[in-house]
Amino acid sequence: MKTVSDQPLDLQPYKSVDNETLSRRIEAVRQELGSKLLILGHHYQQDEVIEHSDLRGDSLQLSQMAAESGDCRYIVFCGVHFMAETADILANGPEKLAERGGERVAVILPDLAAGCSMADMAAIQQVEDAWEDLGEWIDTERVVPVTYINSAANLKAFCAKHGGIVCTSSNASAVLEWAFRQGDRVLFFPDQHLGRNTALKMGITNDRMPVWNPHEEQGGLTEGQVRNSKVVLWQGHCSVHQMFSPEHVRMFREQHEGIKILVHPECPQEVNDLADISGSTGKIINTVRQAKPGTKWAIGTELHLVNRLKKEHPEQEIHFLSPVVCMCATMYRIDLAHLCWSLENLAAGTIVNHIDVDAEVAEWSRIALQRMLEMR
Ligand code: SF4
Repeated sequence: MKTVSDQPLDLQPYKSVDNETLSRRIEAVRQELGSKLLILGHHYQQDEVIEHSDLRGDSLQLSQMAAESGDCRYIVFCGVHFMAETADILANGPEKLAERGGERVAVILPDLAAGCSMADMAAIQQVEDAWEDLGEWIDTERVVPVTYINSAANLKAFCAKHGGIVCTSSNASAVLEWAFRQGDRVLFFPDQHLGRNTALKMGITNDRMPVWNPHEEQGGLTEGQVRNSKVVLWQGHCSVHQMFSPEHVRMFREQHEGIKILVHPECPQEVNDLADISGSTGKIINTVRQAKPGTKWAIGTELHLVNRLKKEHPEQEIHFLSPVVCMCATMYRIDLAHLCWSLENLAAGTIVNHIDVDAEVAEWSRIALQRMLEMR
């Protein structure tokens, strides 16, 4: 198998093939490659792609499951770029490589334009500059950098190098508690909402959580604000979850008596405060699974997941917590045409859109991820 896309099949013709034919061709490659191939489908992915995935889950779950597979040599990640990086980092760690006699798992992202708007809001240079700027006012030796898993690998590496850690939306509270056992303050990036909603639950007030704007000098903050801080939040957000508003919550409550509001902590504080339940994607799914028939929900998270829950739970009444359609547009770029194209290239011996994290960055990122997984 070649490891670079020197002569890939042309993507263009795939765009005019109908979905039924693409599905048949995708299944043919799955048959041919058998257990060597794992197609991972993130919860926010569209149904027609999910139908071809071997595993469905959130980004960390998927990467961990794929890394555990002894047979797998190719991961096709139907998610976004940072997820494919995490898969590469976990599947190609020293222990996993030793188990496979040094053989690497190749991770493929069917469309390289499938990025994450939130992850893109914190670039490594901006974070390094912020760290240096903060150092003019406070002792950064006592600051613990925490990055949400929805971030580039080099930010995870940055955290590891500075005694920090990675968090997910399900363990953010435990990670912040861990961080406060290591230092006095936290620099939390890239999602201000997850950082704020989590810290508020721990009793940290907004006046102790200034927001660092990477586009302004000294983050647009004063020395007093930084010195008084417990958590310095990064000015980043998810374009999907940020659009839910308190008006949407009020509207559903007025129009649907007894409705419960279930949201993701990437939603703004005003929405989280009004919700009945706030939790990670996993918690949202489990909450709906365990609810009594007839329960009414308005759910504030990505549209494809809400629609799938609606389909899988006809015994409940499920609404999308917004009158306007909003989905993860970058993840949506991975359609059947891109999936089929990347798989047929693979079957023909060419790896396209190979996500291969720089060895040093991967090593440090693994440390930050490992800290999270081993956290007590
Ligand atoms: S839903 Fe938001 S955080 Fe998740 S991948 Fe899409 S843009 Fe990124």
